Amino acid sequence: MVKVVETVAEVREQVAAWRREGLTVGLVPTMGYLHDGHKSLIARSVKENDRTVVSDFVNPIQFGPNEDLDSYPRDLDHDIAVVEQGGGDLIFHPSVEEMYGKDFDFYTYVKVEELSSGLCGASRPIHFRGVCTVVSKLFHIVCPDRAYFGQKDAQQLSIIRRMVRDLNFPLEICGCPIIREEDGLAKSSRNTYLNAEERQAALCLSRALNKGKAAIEAGETDAAKVRAIITEEIEREPLSKIDYVEIVDWNNLKPVDSTEGSILTAIAVYIGTTRLIDNFIIER
Ligand code: AMP
Repeated sequence: MVKVVETVAEVREQVAAWRREGLTVGLVPTMGYLHDGHKSLIARSVKENDRTVVSDFVNPIQFGPNEDLDSYPRDLDHDIAVVEQGGGDLIFHPSVEEMYGKDFDFYTYVKVEELSSGLCGASRPIHFRGVCTVVSKLFHIVCPDRAYFGQKDAQQLSIIRRMVRDLNFPLEICGCPIIREEDGLAKSSRNTYLNAEERQAALCLSRALNKGKAAIEAGETDAAKVRAIITEEIEREPLSKIDYVEIVDWNNLKPVDSTEGSILTAIAVYIGTTRLIDNFIIER
């Protein structure tokens, strides 16, 4: 039976009890409204650890002033059922006050320099500072052996790995592949914002990435040409508006001229007012 707790003290107490039994603990940080992408992270944690904690918290400090904090979908009962079915043990569902004090009585932030300014960081300047701060807090609260993050948010995965290395967090970061709908759209809680027409239009993201990837596999090494192929495909969709199409070195997120090394090809595209992201990584 999955247990839902709302306070830091209750999480610490439960994890301490598990530790006394010599059990290992996996953490899956989420903002809730759980879908198959989250399920895959939970499944992997359940497989690799004796106990799995899922945090379910829409983190206000990672949203910019004009972003979708208030409309972000929430459904705790659904999330409890998903974690239960997936074999998770504990859901940490804190209030904003529990995490940041009354009226945000909170001064301390964690920021990973260099990696946070490009890609999504360019249009979401405070986003990764908010993510790193909440994830640091969750690591200190749960003290997991392993934590699970999706490649769907590739820049986030890269930044969290770097933070763990730079700040000596004693845990392992496990990256998990992107889970997609049958037609290719990457699963996302934000897909619920799309109406039927937009849902169809959203397929331009995965279609464009597939074209770019195919070009690389066919021998194209010029990153600018691959970007052009991807851009052109997205622009064929009238409801789309590109935020960015970038090809960067997967080791340091710096733009590359050639696709020959380990690369992350990442895109962010508005479909109507909904901002969607997708990517592929080639590791060499
Ligand atoms: P979120 O609730 O959107 O903050 O996501 C929580 C975690 O689930 C993050 O590590 C995401 O990268 C991961 N995630 C979200 N969507 C997917 C997906 N389609 N496939 C794999 N992981 C995902």
